[in-house]
This record gives sequence, structure tokens and C-alpha cells, in this order.
Amino acid sequence: MNRVILKSKRERSVLKHHPWIFSGAIASEPSGGVDPGETVEVVDSGGRALGYGAYSPQSQIRVRMLSFGSAAAPDDTAIEGRVAAAIGRRADYFADAYTNAIRLVNAESDALPGVVADYYSGWVVAQFTSAGAERRKSVIAAALMKFAPFCRGVAERADIDSRAKEGLATEPSFAVLAGEEPPELIEIAEGDVHFLVDVRKGHKTGFYLDQRDARRTVGALANGAEVLNCFAYTGGFGLHARAAGAAHITQVDISEDALALARRNADLAHLCGTAVDYVVADVFTYLRTCRDANRRFDLIVLDPPRFAAGKGQLMKAARGYKDVNLLAMKLLRPNGLLATFSCSGAMTPDLFDRVLAEAAEDAGRDFQVVTRTRQASDHPVALAFPDGLYLKGAILRAL
Ligand code: SAH
Repeated sequence: MNRVILKSKRERSVLKHHPWIFSGAIASEPSGGVDPGETVEVVDSGGRALGYGAYSPQSQIRVRMLSFGSAAAPDDTAIEGRVAAAIGRRADYFADAYTNAIRLVNAESDALPGVVADYYSGWVVAQFTSAGAERRKSVIAAALMKFAPFCRGVAERADIDSRAKEGLATEPSFAVLAGEEPPELIEIAEGDVHFLVDVRKGHKTGFYLDQRDARRTVGALANGAEVLNCFAYTGGFGLHARAAGAAHITQVDISEDALALARRNADLAHLCGTAVDYVVADVFTYLRTCRDANRRFDLIVLDPPRFAAGKGQLMKAARGYKDVNLLAMKLLRPNGLLATFSCSGAMTPDLFDRVLAEAAEDAGRDFQVVTRTRQASDHPVALAFPDGLYLKGAILRAL
């Protein structure tokens, strides 16, 4: 088997079971003759075995570990077992009637580097974001088909930046890997709130499952409130607020398609009475328009897209987060709530707190933290892989 030899003193993170080996930590690697995603043996500078990983010739993350220490390299049966185990760990979600949309496999944190699989009411949509994941795709798709409850089909979304970085094809953007072709839109439930998910053209695999808990938490605070839901996508937070008895909702997103689906999602609920406005706009511009018109809200949600793709963009991203939070903070009525999120992995929870504190200072208002949120627990973070935590949020009350 091909070998990757680490530089002296660079084995520490692997010994702690962190799964990534960057090209800069490698003293010697196979020169050609290794297929993308093939399993390689990883040893330290003294030749001691550290485990086995999947080789990504084009990526800065050159090896993603699949097993550590003296454990054998996982074969197809072991990979199938990891898929089954990951699904098994979600048994409580399947037993609970609250939702039928669940992340089944959360990549490195479920011991399947580069593999994401989301379940939407009987259909699975996966992403294979590394060469190692791509190489094991057919085994993983078959395992998802076999072990996901009541599974009718497994499909793949390939239109992701991380695939391009690994030298993997991003076209066709959607393909069926096993079972039947999913319908154009799949209806899912989160409690009483229903959504149509476009698994072909929607963001990520179609829906932001990671914000499930936050949507529930925010909804519970929305009774009677005038709500501004910024970066609304297909209506998520706004529809939960409406189900909880909000007085008025404004859904703002730059994507006309996303808001078109938000309207259809509102119709699914058969609720009447609560007025919903839809605004196709850039949130930064819209918040300034509200400021100039002296508009005020009881609850503002800020769930922007990722501002920083990596550490290099962190300072620019921090300014973006500060600006948008500052603008929103000024629009709150006394005792109003700001539910604010960051899904940039490079923005740590501590740094996000500092950004919020600076925004509050510039807004000239005091806030209390009512609660904090994280990505939902079907998006677990391996203790040895803190990089897996990317989504954090805070609910702040303006004093
Ligand atoms: N809160 C949503 C997910 C939001 S994802 C949910 O619970 O489902 C981020 C959204 O921000 C996307 O829908 C994207 O279209 C939108 N977006 C990105 N940049 C924007 C901008 N500058 N102004 C308004 N919307 C933007």
C-alpha cells in the first residue's frame, strides 16, 4: 500500500484523532500511481503507524483519516457499517413525529469524511465533497438505500465548491444514485410547519436542516410579534413565527425563487389571519430603508449565508457581521429580540460574541443574551474535530 510519511513532530493532531492531514505536514508522499481517494497508510517521521486515510492529490487537505492507530483500513463492509451506525444514532429523530427531515450522515464527525446525507421524507440527498468520499460513493449510496427508513431513492448534489477544490466534477449537478427519482418538490414537516424542498436547485441538499432547533426556539418567542425575517430562504423562521401567533411577518431574501417557495410554504399551513410580506432585496439595503423610514420590529432574525469561506476572509466577514447586526439592532423596539446567526466555521463562538458586542456598542444599546443556539444535534461535532462546529447563534433582547 502507498505510504504518506509525516514531517517530524507533525503527528500530534493525528494521534488525537483529528482526521485532516494538510499537505504542509507531509515529508514524503507517493509520487503518482495513487488514484484520487485511494487508501494510503500514514506513518510518522520515525515510521510509526498512525493509521489509514483517503488520499486527495489535488487538495490542501491531502489525507482524510479513515482509521487510527493499529486499526485496519476500512473495507467496503466497514464503510457500509459506518453508514448504518450513523443512521442508527438518529433513531430518536425517526421515533419522534416532530420532523421527517434529518441529517443522516455528518461527514468527519460520523467517521465518513466528506460525506453528507440528508433525509427528506423517504428520499436521501447526499453530497460527496472529497476524493475519498467520491471513490466510495456507490458503496455509500447502496448503504443509504438499505438502511435509511422507508427509503425510496438516493440522489446526489454535485454543484459544490469543495468538489471543485478536490478536482471532482460538479456537473451534472443532480443525479439519482439508487432507487427512484425523487419528485420535483418534497414536502417535509417541522412540527406544524411544512416546507416544500427543492432537492435539485435548492441550497445545499435543499434545506437548512442545521437550523431546525433555532427555528423552534425563535418561533416560541414570536407570539404577537411584528417579525422581520432576514435571509429568509424558503420562509423557515418566519413560518415558525407565524405558526406561533406572530402578528405580522416580513420575509426578506435576495433570491426570488426562494421567496416564491416561501409563499407556497405559507399556503401549506392553511392558516389565515397573519399578514406576510415578501421582499426581494439585499438585506443590507433593506435594513437601511427601514432605518430611514423609522420602522420598528419586535423580533428580527438574521441568518445570513457564510461570509467567510476560510480564515483568510475572517476580518472582512467580521465587518459584514458587525454591519448587519448593527443595522438590525437599531430597528428593535424596547425589549425586542434579535435572533442572530453565523454559519462561517472560521468565526468562532467567542469571536462572534465580540462582533455582537461591538455592534451593540456602536448601536448605543444594551442587550441581554436570552439564549444561544448551535447546529441541530443531527449535525454532531466529533470532539477531536472542533472544525465541525460551524453554526452558532444568539438570541439577544434589547433593553
Ligand atoms: N433562514 C433560512 C436559511 C437562510 S440561508 C432557513 O431557516 O431556511 C441564507 C439566505 O440568504 C439564502 O436564501 C440567500 O438567498 C440569502 N441571501 C444571501 N445574500 C443575501 C443578501 N445580501 N440579501 C438578502 N438575502 C441574501
